[in-house]
Amino acid sequence: MRIESCRKCGAELEIKQKCSVCKEGITCICKECHFETEEQIHLQCTLMNMDYKLLDARVA
Ligand SMILES: [Zn+2]
Ligand SMILES: [Zn+2]
Repeated sequence: MRIESCRKCGAELEIKQKCSVCKEGITCICKECHFETEEQIHLQCTLMNMDYKLLDARVA
């Protein structure tokens, strides 16, 4: 994931929350003003997560 600079003050962003599937950052927080970016939904990861959960039911 590309780490953008803060939209408010232009400072560097830090990853706050990571995707549970690919471990890439999905939310970032500004080190300076603590502005949080919107959560970036990974569609593929979300679908993959659902697939894993549905797999057991499908096989049975
Ligand atoms: Zn992901
Ligand atoms: Zn900032």
